[in-house]
Amino acid sequence: MPASSGVPRSVPAADIPADEFGLIDRFFSHLDSGPDVTLGVGDDAALLKLASGETLAVSVDTVVEGRHFPPGSNGDLVMFRAVAAAASDLAAMGARPLGMTLAVSLPVVNEDWLQACRRGLESAVQQFSLPLVGGDVTRGPLTLSVQVMGAVRSPLRRDGARPGDRLYVTASLGDAAAGLAVCEGRLRVSSPLAEVLRERFWRPQPDLDLGQRLAAVATAGIDISDGLIADAGHLARSSGVGLRIDSAALPLSASLLDAVPREQALTWALTGGDDYVLCFTAPSAAVLPEGVHCIGEVFAGAGVECDMLTNATGYRHF
Ligand code: ADP
Ligand code: MG
Repeated sequence: MPASSGVPRSVPAADIPADEFGLIDRFFSHLDSGPDVTLGVGDDAALLKLASGETLAVSVDTVVEGRHFPPGSNGDLVMFRAVAAAASDLAAMGARPLGMTLAVSLPVVNEDWLQACRRGLESAVQQFSLPLVGGDVTRGPLTLSVQVMGAVRSPLRRDGARPGDRLYVTASLGDAAAGLAVCEGRLRVSSPLAEVLRERFWRPQPDLDLGQRLAAVATAGIDISDGLIADAGHLARSSGVGLRIDSAALPLSASLLDAVPREQALTWALTGGDDYVLCFTAPSAAVLPEGVHCIGEVFAGAGVECDMLTNATGYRHF
């Protein structure tokens, strides 16, 4: 894709505004319209509508260069992934997306990087129905903080799982871990396959519509960002139950099974992070949306059990 696509043509490329307002206007504005936006970028705060009976779901996530993505990463990918990861939290609450704000810290004004960043923003705003209604721009180490807001009537919380419920995930697991391994040179595969797996890491696909549909039938839910075992562990703890995972039931993509032996694929499905797939529990009689995968059950007890791994944990920052 040419470096200039997606950027308003009326602004000459050479005319880089050094001031904050010019940057906001060029790279972070005109993405703020949506059905729930009363007032977007430009005033002291944005205004979003809530219907009566709805509550506001709010979540913020920050990515820092050198910690969450390698220095020199493509702005399109970094931006898309930052919004997708934040949007995944709304999906996990069963919330209807209202809008987002974006706080950006930039070490320098890098025209090409910001244009790529704008492209990632545009596709994320559209895909997740999250108009960019405000934010902040400051100078400092390269950092993106994405705050997402959604409206929800009956939130899908972590604490509602009950013994006898079944345990589900909404899509295949482990691809993002394989994609990261490709990016870091730990996994070598044919170039079309490498491209598919890299995409799975850089362009997570949280399904906000599915999250809203699940909120009506699921007893508890969480998004898988740090690995199934780790995140299922949070759900188990919050709900005061135990979860049993059947490794044979874990959905694995054809790409992942093409790339690595089944044992490695299962290990990544259980402990690799970054999939941004939903994990939820529902009564065995519940009528569920198509395409979800039953991977186990809820029992009266504590912790996460799996026939395959004993001491598995997901990624932890500290
Ligand atoms: P204030 O001084 O009131 O905080 P700013 O000067 O920081 O306002 O920003 C001006 C307007 O531009 C505000 O509406 C703010 O929300 C918006 N804005 C600033 N940075 C961003 C950004 N990165 N993305 C989207 N909107 C932004
Ligand atoms: Mg400000």
